[in-house]
Amino acid sequence: MKKPIRKVVIAGGGTAGWMTAAALAKLMGKNLDITLVESEQIGTIGVGEATIPTLVFFNRLLGIDEAEFLAATQGTYKLGIRFENWRDVGKDYLHAFGVTGKDCWACGFQHFWLKGRELGLASDFGDYCLERRAAETHKFSHLPNNGLNYAFHIDASRYAKYLRGFAEHFGARRVEGKINRVAVHPDSGYIQSLTLDNGQTVEGDFFIDCTGMRALLIEKALHTGYESWTHWLPCDSAVAVQTAKVQEPIPYTRSIAHDTGWQWRIPLQTRVGNGYVYASSFEDDVHARERLLGNIEGEQLTDPLLIKFQTGRRRKQWHKNCLAVGLSSGFLEPLESTSIHLIQQNIVRFLRFFPQQGILDSEVDEFNRQADFEMERIRDFIILHYKVTERTDSEFWRHCRNMAIPDTLANKIDVFRETGHVFREGSELFVDSWQQVMLGQGLTPERYHPLVDTMSQQELADFLSQVKAQVDQTVDKLQSHNAYLAQFTANA
Ligand code: FAD
Repeated sequence: MKKPIRKVVIAGGGTAGWMTAAALAKLMGKNLDITLVESEQIGTIGVGEATIPTLVFFNRLLGIDEAEFLAATQGTYKLGIRFENWRDVGKDYLHAFGVTGKDCWACGFQHFWLKGRELGLASDFGDYCLERRAAETHKFSHLPNNGLNYAFHIDASRYAKYLRGFAEHFGARRVEGKINRVAVHPDSGYIQSLTLDNGQTVEGDFFIDCTGMRALLIEKALHTGYESWTHWLPCDSAVAVQTAKVQEPIPYTRSIAHDTGWQWRIPLQTRVGNGYVYASSFEDDVHARERLLGNIEGEQLTDPLLIKFQTGRRRKQWHKNCLAVGLSSGFLEPLESTSIHLIQQNIVRFLRFFPQQGILDSEVDEFNRQADFEMERIRDFIILHYKVTERTDSEFWRHCRNMAIPDTLANKIDVFRETGHVFREGSELFVDSWQQVMLGQGLTPERYHPLVDTMSQQELADFLSQVKAQVDQTVDKLQSHNAYLAQFTANA
């Protein structure tokens, strides 16, 4: 439909709604009339605290001051995720954000490491990764040229509140009220307006559905459809609780596998976010709640919150004049903290495609193609953690080991097992992470690249020890995470 887009309506004011409002208002606010409708009575999902490095760039795009952001969100730095008991009970590894070692034109560092390990010349794979060593030693500093890859742990409700002030400052208008009707044009199928409980009508040219799992616009009104991925990702429930901190916050998330799922521990400045993600077909809600409460430290600050979800995605992220952002667009469990990333991806992609002069089918199709690809690749990466495991100690883990997986993932696993290669496809998010997680989960390649054999044993030993020494020297120069955080946010 070739109608110019002037008036954008955002339905919902959780993390997705306010991130969208903030970005549109800051970057396109001069040309747009932006209204956000939210209902205090309904509230937000109230979880979502771990992020990945792309949030650093989203904040920079908006011109948000990092110290102010950390102070406002009770944030800490995050350098990766420690996966405990995932490979097997008692076996841990840390998936860190940075690159491990040094690649050459023909092959990745893992090839050099594989031969080095065979010859007894190499130590743990993670010893060659700056972010992993910094995380383990609880260190952090900003380094020039983004020399240290980092993300944040944040209180997402505070982030939404902070962004509300930001978005309103740049002209976004907030309307309080519960949406009870979505008017759709009978011929075009385009959304025309939202009607609230109090009778108020909010009209728009374009609507962004940020109503969370309710998906009031994209699904309830437009019936776009949902593709379930629960046969690949069996967890469908979570219970979450906040506790007071008992130690200084560490710069990584902990992901602790149990018999029927996994537990997160996310350290903020003054409290810890805890949750247990589980498969309800293997553990009931009462036991899951007990399991979580039996595995927390520190004073319990909130009542346990039970959340049910269905892993999968909306069949179209953008349909007619409606874009789904956040949980309305689908959900991948929080194992690799990718939901906020997917929110910002849909926002930034929408800004790139912005249909100021009217919506074109070709643009909508391309948007959806890119969004589908991105989400499928992240889905595969998450499934990897469950599939490639040595655990056989519970019915849940035996199920995960034996379950069917997408062909795209099966191919990636086979290529790595047989050749040691990981190839980046298109703009997929995770690259170096694949090596770290596959090796961490116990998948060892059968071969390494022949180029490594052109090095003598001494050359290989020197190369590996140089890389490691460089990592160690840089880690030595970093400050303690807590000291740096306190100093960095002192005047915010
Ligand atoms: P919500 O927070 O549910 O917001 C929906 C909004 O719509 C609210 O403002 C609500 O009031 C409004 N609304 C709904 N219906 C109406 C109506 N009828 N009228 C008016 N307003 C309405 N993500 C991460 O990146 N990292 C994590 O560590 C992480 N952990 C998670 C753990 C769990 C267990 C779950 C389930 C999710 C996690 N997520 C995580 C995802 C993250 O919580 C969400 O992506 C994020 O909070 C965005 O949610 P949202 O804004 O889409 O929805």
